[in-house]
Amino acid sequence: MTTISPDRIVPSAAYAGLATPRLTVDLDALRANYRAVKAAAGGVATGAAVKASGYGLGAERVVQALIAEGCGSFFVANGAEGVALRRLFSPSEAEIFVLNGVLAGEETVFIDHALSPVLNTAEQVRRWSGLSEDKPGGALHVDTGMNRLGLSPAEFSDLIATPAVLRAAKITVFMSHLACAAAPDHPQNAKQLAEFTAAARWVRTTLPDIRLSLANSAGAFLGAEYAFDLVRPGIALYGGAPFDTGGPTLAPVATLHAPVLQTRSVPAGGAIGYGASVIVDKPTRTATVALGYADGFLRAGAAGGYGWVAGARAPILGRISMDLITLDLSGVAAPVAAGDLVEFLGPNASIDEQADAARTISYEFLTRLGPRCTLDYVGASPGARS
Ligand SMILES: *Cc1c(COP(=O)(O)O)cnc(C)c1O
Repeated sequence: MTTISPDRIVPSAAYAGLATPRLTVDLDALRANYRAVKAAAGGVATGAAVKASGYGLGAERVVQALIAEGCGSFFVANGAEGVALRRLFSPSEAEIFVLNGVLAGEETVFIDHALSPVLNTAEQVRRWSGLSEDKPGGALHVDTGMNRLGLSPAEFSDLIATPAVLRAAKITVFMSHLACAAAPDHPQNAKQLAEFTAAARWVRTTLPDIRLSLANSAGAFLGAEYAFDLVRPGIALYGGAPFDTGGPTLAPVATLHAPVLQTRSVPAGGAIGYGASVIVDKPTRTATVALGYADGFLRAGAAGGYGWVAGARAPILGRISMDLITLDLSGVAAPVAAGDLVEFLGPNASIDEQADAARTISYEFLTRLGPRCTLDYVGASPGARS
């Protein structure tokens, strides 16, 4: 099989001296966030969602840094992501769960790479249980109110009546997923918790040692009763706020910088960018920066989006182009010149604010950051293996 890489990484050294957007991932901040989530969950075993290349930040280095924190359980979306990670990390270092489940025909690849399927239907459970004993263990996913993946309550109670099938499937984790944890007061949280607790009691009559897992990042901050035996955070590790509003803040992990290409003084009445969508009503200093929607900086985020340059906040002016963003320097006292770096994500430019401006969520913003950004790592963590 041709090697599948977990990441598409261009280290900035490859473009040394060139004016490109640069994404820097702080592995120490990632590790600090891991400890914060684990503490919030009362210290229970804490895994990590590393699907979509570690939310766009590179699964290899993310997994490596988290292993150094004692993390042993990783969740990817599909088998290809699992295969790519398994080539880098042994089963004793990392158990890898594939959230999308195992479709008919995928079993051999899963077994060959010691990938644990999240069994989402009774058919998947039966098929997995029919395979020989040396297969990896699986997780059993019961739906408690999201109607996305997982066994329906009816399917689940049928399955519970066939303990031999459950045992033969080598199920090690019993899980469900919260739909509304980002809104702590949403009544669906308590409802799903009750459903899951009842189902877990059932499953434990057959599989007493099974690990129970309900919480994503937000769930880990909902209270000890949501933590069970294993939490599965994603976004909080990468520095995104777990709750929709308020609540805990995590350390910024991703910093995105792009260089100023040109500055200008636009006279009153001057139009900015495509569509002349903004006409300045006073003489305005602007900076044109080498970052655009082709780098994953979402075009929808122009109104409300900003850069941080020379120690001050500079709002985006007019439309975001494919390769360029214009900033309003009116609030920036210090001089700004071509080559200066502007921060668009990081300690001074919040991922949640930029995502809000684009009417999306931090998850989408991070996973869209793309092909033209170089990617570098900082922090005390061992180097890449591949
Ligand atoms: C993505 C995912 C997670 C992690 O969610 P976050 O909100 O990023 O913490 C956990 N569990 C499942 C089933 C997921 O799909």
